[in-house]
This record gives sequence, structure tokens and C-alpha cells, in this order.
Amino acid sequence: MRIAVVGGSLAGLFTATLLAQDGHDVTVYERSVHGLEGRGAGLLGKRETFAILRAAGCEHVARVGVVARERIVFGDMGATVDQTMAPQMQISWDAIYRVFRRHIANGSYLLDRRVEHLREEADQIVVGFADGSEALADVVIGADGIASVARAMVDGPTAANVYAGYVGWRGLLPEHALPGFAADELLERFAYFRMPHSHVIGFLVPGPNGETETGNRRYNWVWYRPAVEPAARDEVLTDLEGRIHPYSLPPGAVPERARERLVDDARRLLPRSFAAAIEATAHPFVQGIFDYETRQMTSRRVALVGDAAFVVRPHTGMGIAKAAADALALRKHLSSASLGDALREYRQERVKAGAAIAASGRELSAHLA
Ligand SMILES: Cc1cc2nc3c(=O)[nH]c(=O)nc-3n(C[C@H](O)[C@H](O)[C@H](O)COP(=O)(O)OP(=O)(O)OC[C@H]3O[C@@H](n4cnc5c(N)ncnc54)[C@H](O)[C@@H]3O)c2cc1C
Repeated sequence: MRIAVVGGSLAGLFTATLLAQDGHDVTVYERSVHGLEGRGAGLLGKRETFAILRAAGCEHVARVGVVARERIVFGDMGATVDQTMAPQMQISWDAIYRVFRRHIANGSYLLDRRVEHLREEADQIVVGFADGSEALADVVIGADGIASVARAMVDGPTAANVYAGYVGWRGLLPEHALPGFAADELLERFAYFRMPHSHVIGFLVPGPNGETETGNRRYNWVWYRPAVEPAARDEVLTDLEGRIHPYSLPPGAVPERARERLVDDARRLLPRSFAAAIEATAHPFVQGIFDYETRQMTSRRVALVGDAAFVVRPHTGMGIAKAAADALALRKHLSSASLGDALREYRQERVKAGAAIAASGRELSAHLA
């Protein structure tokens, strides 16, 4: 079949790789102009992630990671109140992206191709691009994430993400940028501090090229904070030129005044090593937390995968594992049934799984909003 994959991040690459292995004619359309290399951080290895690495013959990537030996929990006065040996590895997002990207020939992974609409016809589907051009396919894989355009074909034009009432402020900084006392306390550990309606976590992740040696790793912190009303969310998601972004502000877009306020709040509210990490971050970024649950997962010629189908809370650590499981399931059904039956079986299997992960994410974050 001619398969058009909309979105060239991990869900798109996972699905494209498996379906190309099975002999389909696969093309990936990605809206970003320069590609996604060097833009990720780390992820927890889960069963489904290892399964897709195995299926693609690149299990070695699971070893490109950094390990936090223990987990520490700070108390109200900033002292460590719990310290447990609980080794946990963060695998490099960029190493996974790079290895899957290499599975797809350059001519089949097209950048700067923003899909604007899809149109199902009797025996094919038309993919319409922002520049007015079109491509034809037998099936479209909607791997276009939280702002998916493919969703409209599956769940209708009014399908919308639901704001969860809080945001995650984030920072990624070279490990050597941490002041000595903070490095002593935070590095090699998964650190956690909780307060009413908010918590902060921090851990090491590999460098932007998958570096794992001491000195070349990055420290990653995330501070979940309430911004319950839409007006409060819009204020947080306003960039330095005054534009309101719908979901997130990337590094470099946060106004200096907002960064200063964040640093002041961190000094007032957080253990001093976390406050120091936040102060040492030149370009923090911020992500609004949203939920989305597809009801259908598929239409006649469209299958959603990854965040296009289900946006789940980040606390589940399941974003990538879920995308991997979607790709594996879609391949399994497409290889053993007609298109119509395969999409129905895929829907039956993955709607249930996605809904269960979404529910566990809401439970894990019940204290946050
Ligand atoms: C650059 C980047 C870095 C990330 N780093 C991490 C990380 O370190 N750790 C982690 O746990 N998660 C990370 N994530 C998120 C993680 O990849 C997802 O939560 C999960 O893997 C599901 O991925 P996805 O492919 O469904 O969605 P996404 O990763 O959000 O990808 C959607 C893709 O679709 C493209 N797209 C959207 N709309 C269109 C359109 N109309 N036409 C064409 N293309 C379109 C986007 O540009 C994007 O590449 C990252 C995501 C991105 C994009």
C-alpha cells in the first residue's frame, strides 16, 4: 500500500519503519524545516520501547543512557527526608530519533511539508499541504502529535485537547552549569520535592548528541505549577513578542520578566539546590498540560498513533512507549487482515490501552490542579 505518515517524530518514525520493513511504500511528511535532531532529552525505557527497538534491529540504543543511582525526596525545610537506592536509566531521545530516522531514505522523509487537510475518496485518500500541493495514498497514519490535523478525520472537526489546569516549567542545562553544592546534591540522583498543587523533579539526561560521559550530560528539571484559569495559562504561554502560544513556549521564547519571576519563586519556595538549577538555566521553557482521548482511533483510511490519538499526562512516562505499542499493533493487524478489518482490530486493541494510560496519568497528578 501507499502509506502517508503525517508527522516525523517518534510515533511517525516507529510506524514508518515497521511498515516499510513489511514492504509498503511509505512517505513521511514532517512540518519542521530543519528536522528534530538535538531537540530531545531523555526517556524511561519501558517494555514497549524495548520491543520496538528489537523489532527495528537497534536494541543497542537502549544502552545510550544515563543512570540515576538513587531517588531522593526533599522535605519542607530543604533537607533530604527519604533516600532510596532505585537505579533508573534515562535513554537518549535523540539517539532513538537518529537511529529510526536512518531507517527511512531521505527521499521518503520530507521536511517542511505541513499537512493542512485530508480528504477521503472512494479508493484513496488525498493529503493536502500548506503550499497547496497534494499527494495521494491508500492509508494515512496520523502521527502529528497534540495539534493533530489527522484527528479531524477520525473524531470530527470539533475534537479538542482539554487543558488540565497546570503547566510544566522545564530546563535543560549542561551539568557543569550547576553550582558545586547543587551538583553534589542532585547529580546521579532522581530528586523530588512536593508542595500543595505543585511538585518539582530533576534528573540527568544524555547530551544533545546522546553523550553519556560525566561532564557532557545535561541536568533536566521540571516544575509543575498550577495556572488554573485559561487567562493564567495564556499569561504563562505568552512569548517575548507578546504572542500567546496554544500549548508550549520553546527555549528562547520565554520573556526575561517571566524568567526572573520564576527564579524569584524558586528561591522562595524550593529547596536551594533546585532553586540553583533553575537560576542557572538561561532558557527555561514551558509546556501546558493537556488531555486528549480519541474515541475512534481510525476512520476508513486514517489511523492515529502516539499523541495524535492520546495525549496523556507526562507523569506516566508512557508517551514514547505508547507510541511504540501503537506502531507494533498497527503493523500486526495490517499484516494479517484486509485494511478495513485491520483498522477495526487496531482500534479495538489500542483505544482501550490508551484510555487506561490516560486514567492512570490523571490519578498520578490528582494533587496538581
Ligand atoms: C523535538 C521533540 C523532542 C522531544 N523530546 C522528548 C524527550 O526528551 N522525552 C520524552 O519523553 N518525550 C519527548 N518528546 C515527546 C514525545 O516524542 C512524545 O510524547 C511521544 O513520543 C509521542 O510522539 P508523537 O510522535 O506522537 O508526537 P510528537 O513527538 O509531538 O510529534 C509530532 C510530530 O508531528 C509534526 N507535525 C505536527 N503537525 C504536523 C502537520 N500538520 N504536518 C506535518 N507534520 C506535523 C511535528 O512537527 C512533530 O514532529 C519530544 C517531542 C519532540 C517533537
